[in-house]
Amino acid sequence: MKNPGQFLSELKSAGLLRALRNVDCLPDGMARMEDGREVVNLASNDYLGLAHHPALAEAFSRAARDGGAGAMASRLVTGTRRAHSGLEEALADLKGTEAAVSFSSGYATSLGVITSIADREDTVLMDKLSHASLIDGARLSGARLSTFLHNDMESLRKKLEHLRSANPSGGILVVTESVFSMDGDRAPLQEIVRLKDEFGALLLVDEAHGFGVLGEHGAGLAEELGVSSRIDFQMGTLSKAAGVSGGYVACSRAWADVMINSARSLIYSTAPPPALAAAALAAVEVIRSAEGQELRRHVSVLADALSSALGMPGRPVSSIFPVVMGENDAALAAAGTLLERGFLAPAIRYPTVPRGTARLRVTVTAAHRDVQIGRLGKALAELLHK
Ligand SMILES: *Cc1c(COP(=O)(O)O)cnc(C)c1O
Repeated sequence: MKNPGQFLSELKSAGLLRALRNVDCLPDGMARMEDGREVVNLASNDYLGLAHHPALAEAFSRAARDGGAGAMASRLVTGTRRAHSGLEEALADLKGTEAAVSFSSGYATSLGVITSIADREDTVLMDKLSHASLIDGARLSGARLSTFLHNDMESLRKKLEHLRSANPSGGILVVTESVFSMDGDRAPLQEIVRLKDEFGALLLVDEAHGFGVLGEHGAGLAEELGVSSRIDFQMGTLSKAAGVSGGYVACSRAWADVMINSARSLIYSTAPPPALAAAALAAVEVIRSAEGQELRRHVSVLADALSSALGMPGRPVSSIFPVVMGENDAALAAAGTLLERGFLAPAIRYPTVPRGTARLRVTVTAAHRDVQIGRLGKALAELLHK
């Protein structure tokens, strides 16, 4: 068992101690800190600024008024409302799949989906920088967990060849994110679908950071690259660009029925409040609309501006800007300096990122204004050249 005093003091001396702080997130891309100071919030995943959208708040409060605050039971008992099934129909429609299943969070989705697909005899073959929830889902499934080097198609091919020669008929589930959460780079999905087909594997893509932001209708990187129909499981979260909370997987009707009958994070957990599903449905409607396209355009203009202020080559591929500092203390000090200058950006440390790659993670969203990002560009450039 942990010795709390020793555990916490070891973390502290390694620069790895975390604590919770109260932050008020304001509608205009700002945040109010505990001491009352208002700073530019670069620490959210609310890429389209939808968390404060009036249509979502309206859908949320109307559903809570009409249908009650809670769902009162698991989805399988009496917890499924029209709001839940309406959300799932809208997600399937947007993704171009037969069905979708929603969960209470992206984390619960990773656990429920991977354990429903893979068994003890199978292998989950995952990009090395995949999110903790995907790793936990693979571990919980009992399948063998293997990794390939980040975005390295030679490494993926070698691993697939090896697995196929060891077990010609064994089940393989390839897992990757579409836009990587802590690096902001993109997976080469076209090559990945070619390889998974060549080797008879299934593919799960986590669009946590692509959904809402990429593709003509905001369905994600798979839409942008035209490979949606070749991905077996398109999962994601409703807590980032959708601005609410919850997760989903879009897949075939048969696999959705498998999830409903075996995903323990869905079966043994009370359904999310119907108001959450109603607000998420309102978010999906904004995402796919002309307004959603305008918000995506605005984020990409801001990301372009920040990228050129930092002298980065080429156009940015997402609105996530990692500023890798290396040591934990250096990242913490940089976050402190930026906060003094009026910008809230988190220091991301091990185990969220590999040791020795501690960083600031700056996210630009549609809630920001040109002037805020202009000032940020100057502050960051000064920090980097010091
Ligand atoms: C945030 C995230 C999740 C978890 O989603 P929540 O809705 O926050 O639980 C899953 N996968 C990836 C890649 C993420 O970045």
